[in-house]
Amino acid sequence: MLVITRSAKILALKLTIFIIVASGLLWSADYYARTRNIDVIESGAFLSSATSTQEMAAQTMAGIEAVNSPDLSLALASSSDLHDQSLTAPILMYHYISAPTAITSLPGLYLDPVIFESQLQEIVKGGYETVFMSRLAVEIRNGADLKNKAITLTFDDGYEDFYLNAYPLLKKYNLKGTLYIIVNALDKPGYITSEQLKEMAVSGHVEIGSHTYNHPDLRTKDKAAQYYEIKGSKDTLEDILQKPVLTFAYPYGYHNDMTLKITAEAGYLGAISVIPGTKHEADNPWLITRLRPGNRSGEEFAKWLNFGK
Ligand SMILES: [Zn+2]
Repeated sequence: MLVITRSAKILALKLTIFIIVASGLLWSADYYARTRNIDVIESGAFLSSATSTQEMAAQTMAGIEAVNSPDLSLALASSSDLHDQSLTAPILMYHYISAPTAITSLPGLYLDPVIFESQLQEIVKGGYETVFMSRLAVEIRNGADLKNKAITLTFDDGYEDFYLNAYPLLKKYNLKGTLYIIVNALDKPGYITSEQLKEMAVSGHVEIGSHTYNHPDLRTKDKAAQYYEIKGSKDTLEDILQKPVLTFAYPYGYHNDMTLKITAEAGYLGAISVIPGTKHEADNPWLITRLRPGNRSGEEFAKWLNFGK
């Protein structure tokens, strides 16, 4: 009996030593993998490395799931080979949703709310499902084509007329839109207030993305300034909203290689450009293409949209 107990004790000791050594090895492997991943990102190789992007997305998704965002329960594909995979979905780009003022030099940025409503009616009639940009970014990264007719509505800059004219229409037709905020313009004349932003962010109809603090031409900024505009604005918006901010829009669509790298490092799922197109490649969610719907209304808009799809 005494002999058996001794053997058992020795066995238990051996087992304990094995567990300690194995844990150490696992930790080292994990640390190595993390360090290597950071190096890949630092070297700028992430654009051609679907695996590292995939890992980053998986980490971000874990963070999202931790905060229980109901719209983002989708898991990323486990496949590590995402090359040559793409999905097609129109992402519409809007700015002001109001009639152009007589003094504006940029009438092309304005859309009369009557025409905007007509476009929404065609989207409903056409059987499209409006999805937030973050969800579409996840789908793009999955690289699987969507079964439904997905469409994403994006609104740049955070003008007050979004709250006054667009938001009520999104609610009326039970649709979704993603709004890109210039953080330092919040609460300024002509722009959305922080209170309006918080109200819309919990409505289920509006998702908030970042459009930097100050809307600069990022190509003219050094690394620190770009980081501040891209990552800092994300952090501030998350503080205001108390929820993750998952996608980014480049001011004027301007970017350089450093911009893309910092945007990926900042923890976004994807970023939208002003490059025209509807096809989105799984291995590059940092230059997602968009379409300008312009003043088309009724059937003309419906035809244009079907062509885009
Ligand atoms: Zn803008």
